[in-house]
Amino acid sequence: MTFLLALLLVAATSPAQTADVLIQAGHQGRPASCALFPKRACNLGAPGERENTPKIADEAARRLRAAGLRVVRVPADYREHYRVRAAIFIHLDGADPPCTSGASIGYPRGSEAAAHAWRAAYSRVFPFRFMPDNFTEGLAHYYGYRTVAPNPNTLVLEMGELTCPPQHAWLATRYRRLGDVIANFVLSRLTNGRS
Ligand SMILES: [Zn+2]
Repeated sequence: MTFLLALLLVAATSPAQTADVLIQAGHQGRPASCALFPKRACNLGAPGERENTPKIADEAARRLRAAGLRVVRVPADYREHYRVRAAIFIHLDGADPPCTSGASIGYPRGSEAAAHAWRAAYSRVFPFRFMPDNFTEGLAHYYGYRTVAPNPNTLVLEMGELTCPPQHAWLATRYRRLGDVIANFVLSRLTNGRS
């Protein structure tokens, strides 16, 4: 009896999987993976988003691994819970009417400094506008936040608006480059003592 109880306790309190960084490609694997969480909205993203967030995410993960970090690279839906030092959820926005959005940032409480740092970094690269932080419900309360233990570098990065032709043209030639920008940003967050 005692042994069984101990086993149950171990199962209930088994630690989250640990890595340095979690990188998610927004909407990747849907709609099939929506079956994992029938009560969660099966949001397929903007036209072209699902196909292209993996290009950014794969390059960011590749570069971070090349720098020696342990990276968990996840699609939209997964059951695991992770303990990481940074969690980056990559998206591309859509808007109706077109060209009423741009880049934006979502984050939970505790990641304000990281959000400000990302805005500074991406503003040097992205030649279109930024929307206000957490300007949608999806950014302010992103489901992915609950899949990682609290850490000060948890961000949804909306890289630009795919439905806006000038932004789309700019984004479409740069997906790998954007992965590098994200990787360099994460490295700066994790290696300068602020994390
Ligand atoms: Zn999205």
